[in-house]
Amino acid sequence: MVARFRFAPSPTGIPHIGNLHTALFSWSLARTMGGDFVLRIEDSDSARITPAATQQMLDALTWLGIDWDEGPDIGGDYGPYVQSQRRPSHQRVITQLVDEGHAYYGDNPAHSASPANNPLRLHMPQTGETVLRDAIRGPIHFDNSLNKDAILVRSDGRPLYHLAAMVDDHDMGITHVTRGEEWIASSPIHIQFYTAMGWPQPVWIHLPLILNKHGQKLSKRDPEGGDPKGGYLITDFQEAGYLPQAVWNYLLLLGWTPDGEQEIVDKWTVRKQLRLERLSASPATFDWDKLQWVNRQYLQKLSDTAVAEGIRPFLEDVYDTPLDDKWLLRLTTTIRDGLKTYADGVDLAAWAFPDGYELTAVGAAALTSSTAKPVLAWLIAELAAIVLLDEATAHSILNGIRQRGQAQYGWRAPDIYQPIRAALTGDVNGPPLPAIMSILGKENALQRLANGIKYKA
Ligand code: GLU
Repeated sequence: MVARFRFAPSPTGIPHIGNLHTALFSWSLARTMGGDFVLRIEDSDSARITPAATQQMLDALTWLGIDWDEGPDIGGDYGPYVQSQRRPSHQRVITQLVDEGHAYYGDNPAHSASPANNPLRLHMPQTGETVLRDAIRGPIHFDNSLNKDAILVRSDGRPLYHLAAMVDDHDMGITHVTRGEEWIASSPIHIQFYTAMGWPQPVWIHLPLILNKHGQKLSKRDPEGGDPKGGYLITDFQEAGYLPQAVWNYLLLLGWTPDGEQEIVDKWTVRKQLRLERLSASPATFDWDKLQWVNRQYLQKLSDTAVAEGIRPFLEDVYDTPLDDKWLLRLTTTIRDGLKTYADGVDLAAWAFPDGYELTAVGAAALTSSTAKPVLAWLIAELAAIVLLDEATAHSILNGIRQRGQAQYGWRAPDIYQPIRAALTGDVNGPPLPAIMSILGKENALQRLANGIKYKA
């Protein structure tokens, strides 16, 4: 029998990373077992589940590299894949439960009231125990004396998750229900529902919670988060310029430990190594530093051209100008080692843009040093004489100044390079000067050197 996994979101807005974590594990387990991965939109209990939010969910899954074999957009043999369209089968089950005495309308368990304006309740046993056999945690025992009869359908006729999701999972042949740990508490209802219907239970897989570094559940807006905005919406990751593969990889580490020390894993490793028995039951802590480390590992594998295209939208947006391919490529090779995410490119490359020039305190100090004016004047004279400022030319000009400056005036390297850096970039640290000069180009470099000479503390 083919294993069938599903992801059953109720999308009400921009997808949250916790939801996508559930989707990713369900998908990974399906792929590991050579099974099907089904997408079902659960919209029966809320009017807030809109087509736009559903599309955002599909887009987020696609961005992460999660594909599905059946779903609302592509159909399949077990459709429809939108829960509200499955009402006839929900209704059939309701009728059967009432007819067989497992459920009743109203609040008198001994006597079912009229379906109109009354909720439907499932009889829950009051003695003994209900055992949830969770594939990650093992058996969990619930004392039936604590049970209350569970509402399956609201008095306005809308079926709740406890009914709709169970019927859909059964009818769609789902063999493995992968969902968040928060569903453990209501699992006795689901188990009793399956028992009442005489259906074999699926394999229950409750994924651990993800917590922030203070041990709290992740929320949409989390000032404690750790990234600049602290958000856990998928757009927060996209806007910060994380690579989808890195987010994919990092999310897998929240609840799973790959073999050996290897933390950078590809789809094939996941297929070979990910096993239900290896998943962790304890909550995982979301660690932004670790995510950035993973992101860097993926960034390092990319070609300069790919990184250039990655930072392009961030630079073009902030500096509001279209960028020449070759120029951007040169800039990228100069700054890429400092990138943790693509968005970091905005700060790392600031010096290369007219708007980005900002004089730091150490930069200002370098411009007021005793060597600043003669060094800058000398460089201006040298640059004025050349036609094209490429890296090799810049290198040889700087070397000449360095050697003769030392021989004639006793200048040390920092006496020369720090005022030049400060004039060109605003700071005394950064990429190699020849690269900076060739990226700025002759005219810009001359302009900045002239401003540097004029600078007064
Ligand atoms: N629609 C439910 C939710 O988004 C699905 C839970 C489940 O996976 O069973 O929370």
